[in-house]
Amino acid sequence: MPVVSVGMPLGPGCSTCGYCGPLGERSSTETSFKKAGFIASQLSCRVYQKMIYRGWRRSGTYCYAPDLRRSCCPQYTIRLDAIAFKPSRSQRKIINRWNHFVMQGHKSEASNLLLLQGISSSPKLPKSEGNASKRDPPNLSLSTSIHAAESDFVSSNATARHQFKVTLEPSTYSEEKYALYLLYQREVHHDPYNTPEDFKRFLVKSPLINEPIPYTTSPPDHLPSQYGSFHQMYRLDGELIAMGVIDILPECVSSVYFMYDPKHEKYSLGKLSAIREASLAREIHDAGAITMTSLAMGFYIHSCQKMKYKGGYSPSYLADPEKFTWFPLADCISQLEKFRYAAFVHPEHSLEGPQDPGEGPPVPVSEELLDEVMVIYSMQQGAISIIPINLSHQWNDEYNREEILSCVNALGDELAREIIFR
Ligand SMILES: [Zn+2]
Repeated sequence: MPVVSVGMPLGPGCSTCGYCGPLGERSSTETSFKKAGFIASQLSCRVYQKMIYRGWRRSGTYCYAPDLRRSCCPQYTIRLDAIAFKPSRSQRKIINRWNHFVMQGHKSEASNLLLLQGISSSPKLPKSEGNASKRDPPNLSLSTSIHAAESDFVSSNATARHQFKVTLEPSTYSEEKYALYLLYQREVHHDPYNTPEDFKRFLVKSPLINEPIPYTTSPPDHLPSQYGSFHQMYRLDGELIAMGVIDILPECVSSVYFMYDPKHEKYSLGKLSAIREASLAREIHDAGAITMTSLAMGFYIHSCQKMKYKGGYSPSYLADPEKFTWFPLADCISQLEKFRYAAFVHPEHSLEGPQDPGEGPPVPVSEELLDEVMVIYSMQQGAISIIPINLSHQWNDEYNREEILSCVNALGDELAREIIFR
């Protein structure tokens, strides 16, 4: 039986922009707008996949679509083609520096090249390596170098200074994870005020319902068997030094959050995690789940220097903020430089400052569509009865109706039919 997706509409909203706020270059009074939002009770991975590619994101169970046209720092959905991804010179350096540290410790100055030659003959590498190597000569394939220093991949005749392990586990709470979160928030974001409940709400709870990944071969042990929300645990000599929150979806691995112990700051673990997540998508694809092709890197914010690093992974694409078709990032740059809000399909819709042109004209929703958008009428002993939204009591309330319509518009016709409102 297909997984049912259920959400409670919250309508549009706005908040102080976090990208040009007190720590940014501009004033702290600027505003980030949301077109729509809802609290998801549960979502199928297939539905959430489509949402991601229509500009939505989740924070815990709260799902939202930013309003790029009205926001001071528009958030463009960015997707890296994980199959065609080739780490740049500086990204390869980040991989090699970390591998070098794990294998040799801090002080050794031995050449990275020698190191990688020494450990590239691991017998435990995934089967796909042969093809991948042919694709990327003369460099090592992405997954070979990303796993090169992991204790489960290092060949038995190589001796590593440190034991490095990366594992995927379900998105659940532990004291250890929370302690890392507190440390990261305090030291990196200068935010000492957090509770276990904040951590759970933001990074543990997820509306995604796990579903099996349809591999056509039996995948290596380190790959997940299901789509869903995961914590990727990075352990050095047993200690949790970093954690990625990721959603594994039918077409992409989606990066939700990454936190690390600041004592390893100089190894750029955040940048390393994006390479690792791209490699994960590629390995899932190579094991036969062929729809998996991309790393969804969240939002690209051209106006925010700190977030521009996402553009350094190539080849990547931005979603058009109106039609949600993909444009190579390189082709978008001149428009992003020229306009505050850049529309790629309809460049004539692009806007220069000031920040907020106000709400656009109301988008008409057809009666046919409203007949097919469903709302929960009653829930009794596990049985749910649903009715068309325009027959519901919510529809008679103007405020509720606005909330629902904003969700229907931001989801688009196809998704609006697939999510049951409550
Ligand atoms: Zn801003």
